[in-house]
Amino acid sequence: MPLTNMTDMLNHAYRHGYAVGAFNVSSFDFLEGVLTAAENCRAPVVLNLPETHAAHYNFDMLMAAALTGARRAAIPVAICLDHGSSLSAAVNGIKAGCNAVMIDASALPLDENLRCTKEVVDMAHACGVTVEGELGYVPWVAGDGEEKPPEDIAYTLPAEAKAYAERSGIDCLAVSIGTVHGLLRGTPRLDITRLAKISEAVGIPLVIHGGTGLGDDQFRKLIAHGVAKINYYTALADVAGASIRTQLQSHPHGSYPQLTSGVRDAIGAQIERMIRLWGSGGRAAEVLQQCRPWQEVEQIALYNMPDKMAETEVTAILQQGMATLGRIPGVRKVRAGKSRQPDGHDHYCWIIRFASQEAADHYRTHPSYLRFIDKSLRPVLPDLLTVDYIAAE
Ligand SMILES: [Zn+2]
Repeated sequence: MPLTNMTDMLNHAYRHGYAVGAFNVSSFDFLEGVLTAAENCRAPVVLNLPETHAAHYNFDMLMAAALTGARRAAIPVAICLDHGSSLSAAVNGIKAGCNAVMIDASALPLDENLRCTKEVVDMAHACGVTVEGELGYVPWVAGDGEEKPPEDIAYTLPAEAKAYAERSGIDCLAVSIGTVHGLLRGTPRLDITRLAKISEAVGIPLVIHGGTGLGDDQFRKLIAHGVAKINYYTALADVAGASIRTQLQSHPHGSYPQLTSGVRDAIGAQIERMIRLWGSGGRAAEVLQQCRPWQEVEQIALYNMPDKMAETEVTAILQQGMATLGRIPGVRKVRAGKSRQPDGHDHYCWIIRFASQEAADHYRTHPSYLRFIDKSLRPVLPDLLTVDYIAAE
């Protein structure tokens, strides 16, 4: 069960002067490559699932695999929805199993970014979920390497960062200090003085997006000035592509398994190098010991329907409940069932899976839940027995 609270994980890194790698998972090869490399180095790790990649794969299917991988891992793992675009994207990410969300409203003016981020923080914190915000704009460049940084880099301003972090309540902050998403030719120029001022102003772990292409010394300086999470993907996609091209040379008519056989190792070697450089290697045991584990909670609600109630009415209440309760933030899944007793009566139950204990507590105060109980259930059900338990995997 090494799914771990990401706020605790990043605070540990922040306090101890290292950075956790956050690697995009865009296929099963990437998922296995990241987890194996992190286990080899005994390092805490973040699996990033970017909303922007959803065009390439089915998000829910890959999330299910990421959750299984994380639960089986021997190292602490957090799963982060990367570049979530809205409150509903964040709600859906948590429903799918993410225990951290990044809300990227950085292209909006400060006040709108703040409003949007605060909305996500209020929802996510009620579910115990970590939130990463972004201030300033880290631009996107094509994968092949461009000559110059784009014109639209908007550097993060330290004074704004302080106001944004304090007023939104975010747990960590992605900053723009000269990196880009993608790869530039040559070494990017970073504004470390700006980073130092931001770090001093906000006092929470900072995040760098666009880690590819930075030199070893640059990484060390970033970490020395408050960076505790580094998002790193382009270089992995590049080494994966190079591995396939190499296989293609020796197997021009190679099948899919042949051509992709080296991808996991190629990604893994690159990740292990970065983990060692960023100082997160060997930290797994102390993170597991000092950080809160991420534990889902399930609730069973048992009830009998009145004898006189028609089957269609019973079914309508069940369906209404599944739809209404399933939309409450922090609810991962609602199942309903019935069992026929020897005396001919039907007993009914709900099984509701929550992202966390916080989410289960929040659910009981949510207006949709209270309305459903008061309007649909209480009038027909005098007794409703509910039991919460921690869902062990
Ligand atoms: Zn990014």
